[in-house]
Amino acid sequence: AGGSSSASATIPRAVARRLPVGVRKPSLRVVVTGGAGFVGSHLVNKLLAQGDSVIVVDNFFTGRKDNVVHHLGNPRFELIRHDVVEPILLEVDQIYHLACPASPVHYKFNPIKTYKTNVMGTLNMLGLAKRVGARFLLTSTSEVYGDPLEHPQKESYWGHVNPIGVRSCYDEGKRTAETLTMDYHRGAGVEVRIARIFNTYGPRMCLDDGRVVSNFVAQALRKQPMTVYGDGKQTRSFQYVSDLVDGLVTLMESGHIGPFNLGNPGEFTMLELAEVVKETIDPGASVEFKPNTADDPHMRKPDISKAKSLLNWEPKISLKQGLPRMVSDFQKRIMDEI
Ligand code: NAD
Ligand code: UDP
Ligand code: UDP
Repeated sequence: AGGSSSASATIPRAVARRLPVGVRKPSLRVVVTGGAGFVGSHLVNKLLAQGDSVIVVDNFFTGRKDNVVHHLGNPRFELIRHDVVEPILLEVDQIYHLACPASPVHYKFNPIKTYKTNVMGTLNMLGLAKRVGARFLLTSTSEVYGDPLEHPQKESYWGHVNPIGVRSCYDEGKRTAETLTMDYHRGAGVEVRIARIFNTYGPRMCLDDGRVVSNFVAQALRKQPMTVYGDGKQTRSFQYVSDLVDGLVTLMESGHIGPFNLGNPGEFTMLELAEVVKETIDPGASVEFKPNTADDPHMRKPDISKAKSLLNWEPKISLKQGLPRMVSDFQKRIMDEI
C-alpha cells in the first residue's frame, strides 16, 4: 500500500506496543490527515522533529503545499493528495485525523461535503485504524458544545446545538465523528483519543479564511478597519498553535481516551481582541461593525482541569505573547502579495 515504503526502518508495532504507556516509542509511522492545513502542518513539524515517519493525506481544499513543501526532501516524509471521503490503504501505527475545513466560511461553502468529510472521512480512517491496529486521534471541536448554556464548558457537558442550522454540518458532523470514534473503540477495540479543540491561531493560517484572529490581523496590517460582527460582546478563548500541538501529541501518547478540552482559558470579547490587535500592530487601527452570522455562539471558554490533571498539559502562551509571532508571518505573506 502507498506510504509503507518510507517507514521500513521503524521498529515492529508489536514491539512498540510492549513499551509502557508514556514511554516514547522510537520512530513510529504516523499519518496526519489534513496535514497540509494550519494545525496539521505544525503537528507534522513536531512529529518529524521527534523522529517519526509522517504521511500527510490532504485534498488541498483549505491546505497548501507551501505549508509542507520544506519537508519534501526528507525520506521520513510523504505527501499524498487524497480525499478522505474515499477509502485508502496505508500501513501505519498512529493516525491523527484532522482533515476537515475549520473556518466557518470554509465549512459553510459546501456543507454537504463538510458533513461527508466528517462522517465518511472519519469512518474510513477508523476502518483503516481497525485493519492495521493503529491508534486513532480525532480532532473534534468546542463547537460540539454549540451555543453553550454552561460556562465555562467541561467535557461532561452535552452541548446545545442546532441540528438544522447553517453551522450544523460542522457541529453535528464532529458530534457524529465522536460517536463513530467511540463505537469503533467499544465495538472493534480500536485505541482512540478525542481532543475538543478551542479557537486556535498562529502562523500559516489562511490570510482570508474568515476566522476572527486572521481577519483582524490581516485587516490591521492592510490598514483596513477590523470587522466586528454583531455587538462584539461575544467571547472566545484563543490558543496559540504550539500549545495545541503539544496537547495533541501528549494526548496521543497518553493512556487516556478523553474527550479532552484543549484550549486556552483566557477569555476575550471580540472588542477586547480588536484592542489587543490594535496594541500589537497599529495604534491607529479602527473597527467597523457588521451584522453577525446565524447561530453564532455567545460565549466560549474551556474548563481544562481534566487535561491538567490527567495529561499534565496546559497552555503556556498568552494572547499577547502569541499574537506578535503570527503577525510577523502575516506581514511577510501580505508583503509578497504586493
Ligand atoms: P485547516 O482548514 O487549515 O486544515 C484542514 C485541512 O484538512 C486542510 O489542509 C484541508 O485541505 C484538509 N481537508 C479538508 N477536507 C478534506 C478531505 N475531505 N480530504 C482530505 N483533506 C481534507 O483547519 P485547521 O485549523 O488546521 O483545523 C484542523 C482540524 O482541527 C480540523 O479537523 C478542525 O475541525 C479542528 N479544529 C480546529 C480549530 C481551530 O481553531 N483551528 C478549532 C477546533 C477544531
Ligand atoms: N477502510 C479504509 N482503509 C482501510 C480499511 C478500511 O479506507 O485500510 C474503509 C472501508 O473502505 C470502509 C470503512 O473504512 O468504508 C470502514 O471500514 P470497516 O472495515 O470498519 O467497515 P466495512 O468495510 O466492513 O463496512
Ligand atoms: N468575528 C468577528 N469578525 C470577523 C470574524 C469573526 O467579529 O471578521 C466573530 C464571529 O462572529 C464569532 C467570533 O468572531 O463570534 C469567532 O469567529 P470565528 O469564525 O473565528 O470562529 P468560531 O468560534 O465562530 O468558529
